[in-house]
Amino acid sequence: MKPNYIAGAWTEGPHVSRNINPSDTRDLIGEYAQADAAQADLAIAAATAAFPAWSLSTPQQRFDILDAVGTEILARRAELGDLLAREEGKTLPEAIGEVQRAGNIFKFFAGEALRPGGETMPSVRPGVGVEITREAVGVVGLITPWNFPIAIPAWKIAPALAWGNCVVFKPADLVPGSAWALAEILSRSGLPAGVFNLVMGRGSVVGEKLLNDPRVAAISFTGSVATGQKVAAACVARMAKFQLEMGGKNPMIVLDDADLGVAVNAAVNSGFFSTGQRCTASSRLIVTEGIHDRFIAAMVEKMKGLKVDDARKAGTDIGPVVDASQLGQDTDYIGIAKTEGGKLAHGGERIETNADGAPGFYLTPALITDTTPAMRINREEVFGPVVSVIRARDYEEALALSNDTPFGLAAGIATTSLKHATHFKRHAQAGMVMVNLPTAGVDYHVPFGGRKGSSYGPREQGRYAAEFYTTVKTAYTQA
Ligand code: NAD
Repeated sequence: MKPNYIAGAWTEGPHVSRNINPSDTRDLIGEYAQADAAQADLAIAAATAAFPAWSLSTPQQRFDILDAVGTEILARRAELGDLLAREEGKTLPEAIGEVQRAGNIFKFFAGEALRPGGETMPSVRPGVGVEITREAVGVVGLITPWNFPIAIPAWKIAPALAWGNCVVFKPADLVPGSAWALAEILSRSGLPAGVFNLVMGRGSVVGEKLLNDPRVAAISFTGSVATGQKVAAACVARMAKFQLEMGGKNPMIVLDDADLGVAVNAAVNSGFFSTGQRCTASSRLIVTEGIHDRFIAAMVEKMKGLKVDDARKAGTDIGPVVDASQLGQDTDYIGIAKTEGGKLAHGGERIETNADGAPGFYLTPALITDTTPAMRINREEVFGPVVSVIRARDYEEALALSNDTPFGLAAGIATTSLKHATHFKRHAQAGMVMVNLPTAGVDYHVPFGGRKGSSYGPREQGRYAAEFYTTVKTAYTQA
């Protein structure tokens, strides 16, 4: 059993979870500890005890540790990427890319540890000086989803540590392997005991313990809206700081003047790659009249060439869905869309076994045309390789449709018109806007996050992460 990491020691859990390969459900990747609330309590206590010293550690100490962690992740990207693809089901190149991103994030925040910044200015009162500095928040609880098993943990853990916080990290149940591998690297990085703790376990047990414990000063959560609402309610009740990154129903507009090849590549990439299991996936294509039929024909042609197979096999374009429950949700939504009047233009077939006969959660990517904005397929997040198409009269209608959603994470447009691209960047109600690019696939050194029902609180990543992981102090001195 792979144990939890608490107070600088590897600690077996009272329960065990089995990590299964979605490309071949006969393949048991490993068994991992599952903590109970008492173990989570020990981790919070260890982090609380470690905080006073760690919050005063030098920038050099934090730089050295984060930089070394980044170096090891990058050096082991092929091996860690293989594990990630095996447990989550994204393709090997996608998984290696994610590991690379995690390594880059540690390097980025190593640098940020050296640049804490601050301001000095004269007071409005004579003889008084003002200093504005940032300090660590305290013990932070980090709760992550299964779809980016190493990058999302990295983009929470690295800034938390860089700015002197102590961490209790609770990964998603479905992907303990990448979380454990990352914790193992951190355990050898020179961090004092208790500064970083891994507590694998159920959301309703370990997660809730983090939400409700007064020693946990802040919660950074990425996951579904339903869980995010629980996080918010618990944190407000005890006035803890929190940030939420949640779902999306990200639109991509395709205008008549778009370069057809660019539009199709962007839509296929962001709709179906990583099996559509990205919060930034373009799941709603809003296509204007003049290009609609040509665009659909080109999409179907491109989709016919996509190979759905074992995530780790060379040549696979789309791996399996992560598990049986998510697969059920995907096929349910395809059924709902058809019942509501959508047309399945291509795909949406359940494949029981891959080309080698291995049983897995395979689904061919589905394109559903002739949908209307009020249909559930256009309002609710599916989180699978399922994309719907809405026909629009012109740019103005397309913009209105793209904003007609409770979510606001990413929004894209394919156009050769500078006028429309410029207008869209300003008027899309989303935290991230892409022009002639997939809505998924973002840089690691700039802010990530959304608005409306997709996100709550300060942005993650880049220098903007300081808003969450630090608290501002204003000091006045009379010399
Ligand atoms: P989820 O909400 O089911 O789980 C997320 C995490 O919360 C897991 O670690 C889970 O164990 C934990 N959890 C569950 N119940 C809890 C509780 N009561 N208290 C505390 N923690 C609890 O989400 P998921 O299925 O793992 O991930 C998919 C979702 O994540 C999708 O909606 C997707 O859009 C979203 N997501 C968002 C972003 C983003 O940055 N906006 C990125 C990736 C994924």
